[in-house]
Amino acid sequence: KGDNATHKDVSSSNSLQNKETHVNRSSDGKVKIGFSMDTLEEERWLKDRDLFKSAVESLGAEVEIMAANGDDALQISQAESLISQGVDLLVVVPHNAEATAAIVNKAHLAGIKVISYDRLVKNADIDLYISFDNEQVGEMQAKAITKVVPKGKYVYIGGAVTDNNAHLFKKGVFNVLQPLIDRGDITVVYDQWTKDWTPSNALKNMENALKANNNQIDAVIAANDATAGGVIQALTDQGLAGEIPVAGQDAELAAAQRIVEGTQLMTVYKPIKTLTEKAAELSVKLATGEEVDVDRKINNGKVEVPSVLLAPIAVDKSNIDETIIADGFHTSEDIYQHT
Ligand code: BGC
Repeated sequence: KGDNATHKDVSSSNSLQNKETHVNRSSDGKVKIGFSMDTLEEERWLKDRDLFKSAVESLGAEVEIMAANGDDALQISQAESLISQGVDLLVVVPHNAEATAAIVNKAHLAGIKVISYDRLVKNADIDLYISFDNEQVGEMQAKAITKVVPKGKYVYIGGAVTDNNAHLFKKGVFNVLQPLIDRGDITVVYDQWTKDWTPSNALKNMENALKANNNQIDAVIAANDATAGGVIQALTDQGLAGEIPVAGQDAELAAAQRIVEGTQLMTVYKPIKTLTEKAAELSVKLATGEEVDVDRKINNGKVEVPSVLLAPIAVDKSNIDETIIADGFHTSEDIYQHT
């Protein structure tokens, strides 16, 4: 990378400063935030990108955004380049919870604080974590599904094993399922992670689950709407779409459409605008050395990270209008009149 040399200069000249003494270096005097994203593949991340940008700008600061297409080495080099561009603070959506610890160490050497956004960076001295209550996301999915299928054969299609959230979602699901499993009401007949969260991998997993069980499956919990899309494709291929309830997460437009059509039971809506506004506010405060005061701490394997966890919202056919439509997350036309 051509900016390597500059990067070295910046980090060595800043290595004498500690985090507290870093001062805003952007030429126009504006606070500059770096936003290092994993991917822009799923619909939600485009919203995160756009809404975070406007939230930061409305606070009079600016943001430089890079997305790494799910490539760990690329995410690290992009973060290095943001550091060398002189950002005052880094906000990171880690592709890999462990690999991105390198970013935190490099930023700190340059006197720059790091916020872990939506996903937790593990085993690193991060300054703040902001996300939703991800365990609650899984609990909401399992509560909705067990309400309609209190007994039977369950499939769990997990997220990417490299994403800490995937573990929290699964934990939440099993918090609710385990007592029913112990009682003998529910059997989990298939349980797999989905590499990189891709719908095509979820489709393959679901095909395997169906084959191994001669299509005798009663309910599916998928870790997000992208994987739920893969699951529902596999069900459609067997003429089973709409017969077997499927839970997802993210309130993606396609999922909202499937909910009103009846091929997906529910999704979990996480108001991205609230996340971006809170993240922008905390970013600017931390970047300018202001005290931030948050009420909880989460251990990431290395430190107790000051954390903010926002509330997710369970959405099905019955409350889609008063949640994602009322919020302007999607329009009624887009959801109801797409065919
Ligand atoms: C996010 C989900 C998203 C998934 C795949 C998770 O960490 O919390 O909202 O669907 O990653 O990108």
